[in-house]
Amino acid sequence: MAHDVVAVFGAHPDDLDWACGGTTAAWAREGKEIYFVLLTSGEGGEDHLRRLVLPPAEMAEIREAEQRIAANLLGVKEVLFLGQPDGRVEATLALRDQLVNVIRRLRPQIVISMDPGAWTFDSFYLYHPDHRATATAVFDAIYPAAGNPCYVPQADEGLPAHKVREVYWSGSSRPNTYIDITATIDLKLQALLSHRSQLPNPDEIATYVRQMAGQRGAKIGSRYAEAFRRMDVPQ
Ligand SMILES: [Zn+2]
Repeated sequence: MAHDVVAVFGAHPDDLDWACGGTTAAWAREGKEIYFVLLTSGEGGEDHLRRLVLPPAEMAEIREAEQRIAANLLGVKEVLFLGQPDGRVEATLALRDQLVNVIRRLRPQIVISMDPGAWTFDSFYLYHPDHRATATAVFDAIYPAAGNPCYVPQADEGLPAHKVREVYWSGSSRPNTYIDITATIDLKLQALLSHRSQLPNPDEIATYVRQMAGQRGAKIGSRYAEAFRRMDVPQ
C-alpha cells in the first residue's frame, strides 16, 4: 500500500471534523499520514457552551486544545495552526507563501481543502469569508506555486518544490466523489463533540450528521459517506 501523506486545510478549529472527519479517520486507519492545518485558531468564536465572549488569546487556547483532542480521535498525526486572524483571513500573496512553505515541508500527495469553485452563496456557514479566502489561497498555493522550483516565497525556508497529486474539495456544490465513512462516523461524531465551546446543543449533532452522511451514502450504496469534488493536479 502506498504510504500517502495527506494535508487537510481549514479556516477554523472544527471545520475539518465537519468536512472530512470520517474520511480522514478511514484514511488514517489505512496507514495514511494525516496533517490538519488550521489557518486560524478560532479566537473570534464565542464560547457557546458557557455563553461567554472570552479574550481572544484564551479562546484560541481553548479551541486549539479542542481541535487537538478531535484530531487525536481521528488518528491525525499532527495539527498545525498558522496564526491567521479569525474573521479576517485574506487570500494575499503573503498567505500563499506561508501555505507554499507548509506544502513543501509536509510534501503531501493528497490535499483536502474547502472548494473554491461554484460558490452559490446559499449558506452563510459554507461561504464564511474566511472559508472563501482559505479556499482561494490553498488553490493558488498548490498550483503552480508549490510545485514550481522558480516560485520562491518571501521568508523562503529553502525547501524544494513539491507537486501535490490530487485534491479533494469539501463543501462543494458539485461533488463528484463520495467516501464511505460507515466504519468511522462514530469517530467523526466524537471529534465534533470535542469542540465543546462551539456546541450549545450537542444532543442535536448526531441526528444532523447521520442524516447528511446518509444522503451522501445513498449515492454510492453505503450507509454513510462524505462528499468531495476531486481533482488531479497537473504534473
Ligand atoms: Zn469555519
